[in-house]
Amino acid sequence: MVRPMDSFFISDVSRELGMSFVTASKICNDLKARRLIISEGKGDSTTEGGKKPIRYKFNPKSGYVLCGHITGTNLECAISDMTGRLVAEVSVVLSPAETGKTLCGKMLKCYRSLLSNMSLAGRSIVSIAIGVNGIVDSVNHRIKISPHFPYMLNADIKLMVADMIAPEAALYLDNKIRFQVQYEADVGVARGKKDVAVLLASDGLVAGIMIGGKILSGINNLAGEIGHTTVSQDSRILCHCGGRGCAESSVTLQALSAALKQEKVEYINSAIEVFKSSAATDPKLAQVVDRIIGALAVSVSNLVMHIDPEIIVIQGIYADAGKAFYDKLTQRVKEMCITGMADKTINIVPSRFGDKVGLLSAAHYAITKYFDEEE
Ligand SMILES: [Zn+2]
Repeated sequence: MVRPMDSFFISDVSRELGMSFVTASKICNDLKARRLIISEGKGDSTTEGGKKPIRYKFNPKSGYVLCGHITGTNLECAISDMTGRLVAEVSVVLSPAETGKTLCGKMLKCYRSLLSNMSLAGRSIVSIAIGVNGIVDSVNHRIKISPHFPYMLNADIKLMVADMIAPEAALYLDNKIRFQVQYEADVGVARGKKDVAVLLASDGLVAGIMIGGKILSGINNLAGEIGHTTVSQDSRILCHCGGRGCAESSVTLQALSAALKQEKVEYINSAIEVFKSSAATDPKLAQVVDRIIGALAVSVSNLVMHIDPEIIVIQGIYADAGKAFYDKLTQRVKEMCITGMADKTINIVPSRFGDKVGLLSAAHYAITKYFDEEE
């Protein structure tokens, strides 16, 4: 309760939690003994002229978490304080030939160097979260399928990394989109919502799904792998997952580049430029944009028909595509989902988090799980 507050008095705790002042006082003393809160001066004296109450605040340095993000090219490692602020970070390039052993070696080196630079001991680390692209065995802390690093599989990251640094800390290894869905629902554009989908389109397509406040993983950790749902049985395009006709093959950055090439549209620097330029008069470009929106609408509408979320947050190359893009996408999804039901709610919005979302959402997840366990 005290984490979101700037500063507070025991009377605030007593009022918020509906408990007596004595009980609230005992709780605050306990939190102070565990360094979770610290005193921060005194407030004004009471109107009755009594003692000035002590002002407390949450102690962001009561512990630290390690967070990690394996992108398509890099290993990003960071240390965050207990408010989710990244206090030290490093990024190293990964080779496509990286194995589980070399990955763990690099990870270990990064975290050890970050801890040493901050003069922190491993016991200061209360929790660890590492987000990856691909399919993960989150129970046994192993990467099962990696689209970018086919040899980086099955290494026990708990044994080979976490236990070497902070054996007491819990390790959460998962697809990064599951960390982001928690982050969006707690502090992002989906704040306060319980049924949330975050759709990430970049060089893949995947959804983080939260239903009733709980993140969906599934028995094989496949929940949300919407990019690998078959949308064309006759397609000959082979996907890295081994299947053909996968949804992601028509909405990724590679698909966008291929479509531009096919229409002989001049080189454009980024996806954002494509969608901004489409407002202009190039009919070929407008056609490409239309095709991409149509393909994305198929995946979004499939998601709606399966889980009907309160909000669908878009992350990745289409996050900054602009209002016209979102209006068109929403319209197409509405047309695809029970056409006859005119008054349905389809709420598609871009994420406000930028490039750092991988590390920030991992840090947030590690902190949230730590306090969940504590409570
Ligand atoms: Zn696939």
